[in-house]
Amino acid sequence: MAPRSSRQTGSHKARSLARQWKAKRRRRDLDQIHGDLQPDNAARLLHQEPDPDMPGSAQHYCLHCARYFVDLNSMKEHFKSKVHKRRLKQLSEEPYTQEEAERAAGMGSYIPPKKIEVQTQPLEMEESG
Ligand SMILES: [Zn+2]
Repeated sequence: MAPRSSRQTGSHKARSLARQWKAKRRRRDLDQIHGDLQPDNAARLLHQEPDPDMPGSAQHYCLHCARYFVDLNSMKEHFKSKVHKRRLKQLSEEPYTQEEAERAAGMGSYIPPKKIEVQTQPLEMEESG
């Protein structure tokens, strides 16, 4: 089992460094999110054990932005926001890193997709009425 604190942020010490790292980190985040979007990982992230340390006990997670929301409504609002839509666009435009593409190319006749379809995750908890 993976340590669940691994993706937690919020160390105040790291704040001054955060700015310098931002450019690099952004690409890194996208790579990581592509990994998170794999069905196995996605299922795991969307069905986490309730964690009282996380917003909304980690029950409302946007895969594409790697963000937790306090409740379903906040997450729905987020799905409609520019931030989220921009992220979907980024993700669909940068499906793989160069490194991954090269490794895949070395594995045979694999043809990397130019563009992948990235959609907002379905809301399974949608309530009627
Ligand atoms: Zn999002």
